[in-house]
Amino acid sequence: MSLQAKLSRILLITGIVSLAACSPVAPAGKTLSITENSPWEQWAKSYPTWVESVEPYNIVSNIYYVGSKGLGSYLLTSADGHILIDGGLPQNSEMIIASISALGFDIGDVKILLNSHAHMDHSGGLANLKTSSGAQLIASEGDRSALEGGFYLGFEDQKQYAAPPVKVDRIVADKEQVTLGSTIITAQHTPGHTKGCTSWTTSVSSGAEEYQVLFFCSASVAGNKLIPEQYQGIIQDYRDTFDTTRTWTPDISLSNHPGLFGQNKKYLRKLDGDPNAFVDRNEFHTTILKLEQRFSERLHQARIDANLTTGISQFSFDNENIQTEKNYLFFLHNISLENDGFPSTHDRFGENQYWDILNKLQTGNTVVVSELRPTGADVEEYAQHVLDQVNQLINYGVPANQIKIVGASKGAYIATLVSHRAKNSDLKFVLAAGCSTGVVDYMLDNNIHLYGDVLTIRDKSDELAGSCENIFQSSNFLGQNDELILELDLGHGLIFKSLNEWITPAIRWPEL
Ligand SMILES: [Zn+2]
Repeated sequence: MSLQAKLSRILLITGIVSLAACSPVAPAGKTLSITENSPWEQWAKSYPTWVESVEPYNIVSNIYYVGSKGLGSYLLTSADGHILIDGGLPQNSEMIIASISALGFDIGDVKILLNSHAHMDHSGGLANLKTSSGAQLIASEGDRSALEGGFYLGFEDQKQYAAPPVKVDRIVADKEQVTLGSTIITAQHTPGHTKGCTSWTTSVSSGAEEYQVLFFCSASVAGNKLIPEQYQGIIQDYRDTFDTTRTWTPDISLSNHPGLFGQNKKYLRKLDGDPNAFVDRNEFHTTILKLEQRFSERLHQARIDANLTTGISQFSFDNENIQTEKNYLFFLHNISLENDGFPSTHDRFGENQYWDILNKLQTGNTVVVSELRPTGADVEEYAQHVLDQVNQLINYGVPANQIKIVGASKGAYIATLVSHRAKNSDLKFVLAAGCSTGVVDYMLDNNIHLYGDVLTIRDKSDELAGSCENIFQSSNFLGQNDELILELDLGHGLIFKSLNEWITPAIRWPEL
């Protein structure tokens, strides 16, 4: 084969798929506008390789590739009829039938349809393939409802995940064999990616060699939710699947996304005359470890996200539920959370323990109010926003001496502005690591003064924030005031940490 011909083949069969890409995640930045009748047309627009036709070819023995460039379908032939694994998207079925025909086989001889999992990019074509072939569809119980209902389990109402419903004729148990003529293929339950995600294994001979062949379902998280669970038990299913599959060493690994095991390169090597081009006993193990790692990361992130939505939001100001007997503590965080979000880790000061700080501040009779400010929040505007909330409390009847504003760094600067604007000597303030030279000069230059009881806290080694003494001196209506200087050698990093050394005095102020 000429180089030119090889290149054109590379272009034809390259199916680049990342580990995470097995199916339904809408591509970043792309909006899926869904049509009622054929939502899957949108997937084809987003992932053009999924519907791009490629030449079918022999992999080994009686196993053939009949999929598209980006979606794998496999034909296992025998004298007594054929088995077809996976149907791609609904619009792929005619292409698959044409590929079977191009190889010299007949769709009418396909007696059994198998499915790796009930996602429309692998099950969508089955309905039409079943009609065209008259074959029976065999699947695992876990995917039956999704196949027969034409939905994505857990996203039943989301039309973009719909597939043509297809009746399941036989349910296979884990390790159950399906036999057709000389072909024996075994169901391997690998749930998680879907509830009935089924890998299939078979053994074939080529020359003197015998090969264990794996048709891998998937173990990517892709579009699945882990918290709350996409379907009940999904997290345990993934774990069981990794435990089961970690030790697998098939000779030949095949995927419904051909890029997962670099199928195009193998095919080129086969064209070059390498009879073992598809044989690689290590790649499955390597791949499943990566997928397990990715799963752990996604689960970790899901836990963080769950904390964010159900956790931080519980500290939002709730003007529907003001209680006059409660103490109110506003916590205004530092600029790092504006820039890096939460959770985040600062290059120099490490993990920003915002969540833990809020929880420590919330003691006894105190309602803690805090929210993540948007990046680049204007200090004057934000000070007014906080003051509006303070005034709502006061207007509702919360005594001003039950309201405290604790700010850290930029948050302390904002708290200073709240104090200046409120001009209420009953309010209490704690300014942690807030008095940089620039801030102090700005306040003095602009006649910004402190009102109320003000405690300042900083680490002696803080190279950004120093004494607030000059502002104290210029504030004629200042109430109780004190400067607490800690010697923890944490520098400006003090306020990133949920340490009792600064949080307890902030809670107790004006009693120290
Ligand atoms: Zn999938």
